[in-house]
Amino acid sequence: MRISQLFYQTLKEVPRDAQIPSHQLMFRAGMIQQLASGIYNYLPLARKSLNKLEAIIREELEKKGCQEVLLPMVQPSELWEESGRWGYYGPELLRLKDRKGNDFCLGPTHEEVVTDMVRRNLKSYKQLPWNLFQVQSKFRDEVRPRFGLMRGREFIMKDAYSFDVDEEASKVTYKKMYDAYTAIFNRCGLEFRAVDAATGNIGGDMSHEFQVLAKSGEDLILSCDKCDYAANVEKALTKRSEGKMDASALSANEKVHTPGSRTIEEVAEFLKLPANNFLKSIIYVIDEEPVLVLIQGDLEINESKLQTLMGANSVALADDKTVRDITGASTGFAGPVGLKKKLRIIADYSVSHGLNMVCGANEDDHHLLNVNYGRDYIADQISDISFAAAGDSCSLCEGTLEEHRGIEVGQVFFLGTKYSEAMKCTYLDKDGKEQLAVMGCYGIGVGRTMAAAIEQHHDDDGIIWPVAIAPYEVVVLPLQMNKEEVVQTGEDLYKKLKDAGIDVALDDREERAGFKFKDADLIGYPLQIVIGARSLENGELEVKIRKTGEKKNLPLGEIVSFVQEFIQNEKS
Ligand code: ATP
Ligand code: MG
Repeated sequence: MRISQLFYQTLKEVPRDAQIPSHQLMFRAGMIQQLASGIYNYLPLARKSLNKLEAIIREELEKKGCQEVLLPMVQPSELWEESGRWGYYGPELLRLKDRKGNDFCLGPTHEEVVTDMVRRNLKSYKQLPWNLFQVQSKFRDEVRPRFGLMRGREFIMKDAYSFDVDEEASKVTYKKMYDAYTAIFNRCGLEFRAVDAATGNIGGDMSHEFQVLAKSGEDLILSCDKCDYAANVEKALTKRSEGKMDASALSANEKVHTPGSRTIEEVAEFLKLPANNFLKSIIYVIDEEPVLVLIQGDLEINESKLQTLMGANSVALADDKTVRDITGASTGFAGPVGLKKKLRIIADYSVSHGLNMVCGANEDDHHLLNVNYGRDYIADQISDISFAAAGDSCSLCEGTLEEHRGIEVGQVFFLGTKYSEAMKCTYLDKDGKEQLAVMGCYGIGVGRTMAAAIEQHHDDDGIIWPVAIAPYEVVVLPLQMNKEEVVQTGEDLYKKLKDAGIDVALDDREERAGFKFKDADLIGYPLQIVIGARSLENGELEVKIRKTGEKKNLPLGEIVSFVQEFIQNEKS
């Protein structure tokens, strides 16, 4: 590529909302432009890097027997009604109507479409396994699109869906995909960890996320300092169990007037008691059933653990009207004692350890003192529904949990028969009996992976691309464009490198040397080959390795083989 022709523009300024290095650098290097919130144009430098990343993904998936398909982004509501998700997939699902008034959505993921496609072809066990993938744009109307390609609304995903005869075979496929993902992220030069993960909106009962370790990561990962245990905080377990109360220490209930104090902080301040003395009582609607959820006042309810515990499709806070119907009071004064309506109670282990706690009295502006688990109320289920934190003990060994920040670049799910059952995706087994296909699904955020690579590989001057996904592997920089020999050497080298199959850019612009160097550092070409009039007199050129900043002079005749060797080493 001749840079004089390249469609891009490097910039000094960054938009105010670009808070993390990958967003700032992609913007400054002229790789992306924002079209609307969370919706981007990908310019040639970004497209080239994505092409390389996608090629690596295709190669590794095809090695595992996956086949590529392409499915529509616009999906009819009927399929989502069949799976049940039309009802509970929240506002992230962008719904639309066609001119005839039919309901559609923009695909945030493709379980429904692929299951429908497969059930139309699937007849016999002899056809399985199938593992189908695509690389395509997804749309999720994210509440807070941010960090550029990290959390967009329209984003490119590789998604794959596997169909096997039974659970055992499906778990073999899961392992293959886990290995393929490991190979893909290794080839991209990323430092990552595969961690235990919650299954969220997708469902199923086993899942791993591939997390790239980076300061700017939105996810919190906990890992054991002694064993291999690592999990997303949504899922992370720690040693916790139900406590036993000393009956002689329990005081009598007492209702107190707490005017204007609604939140735990406000009441704690008013009563001069610490937050861990409170019983946080929150009413959720879980798959349409109101449920009272209890936890110690200084802890947060882990909605993901709650969802898993209940085997639920959706978990949402109850609205004020529902709260009033159940408690007889406005939101903020709920508690497990004296509810107007009976409802299911789920408690975190922590409430069974707290003595003489304070909670809402189910009456506006009133709280109840000395509430004790076992004496005053019991839960229908008591379990671990809080977040683990650094310093907690590992659930598997004697070790302690440590915190890291991560960027989720991929996730693999064992789905079981969730979708095949709902959508009747079946085959006939050896005995001619109808059986449900067992499924898995597997996603990689392609744009997010590119951004994560930049998060891990950059410095103050710009991007430092891992060679495997660099838009160009090498840039040739003729410095004095008014010197015929410099220009000609640049042209010759450019041609030789291209002929040798190297992805090379030639900075043929009539610009100052300093300007070209700055651009080259910003765009992050792994190698820069500098053609200066002075070194050319000795028949030598300067080569700069972007990653280390190392510079060396090499005879003109050795440049191509040096570049070839460098690329080969970096990619292996
Ligand atoms: P997150 O928890 O970050 O919202 P998710 O778990 O909902 O992501 P999946 O359904 O697992 O996402 O999708 C597969 C992959 O797609 C993710 O691992 C991630 O790399 C990518 N991805 C998901 N949402 C976005 C987004 N809004 N922008 C860019 N990439 C995304
Ligand atoms: Mg995920």
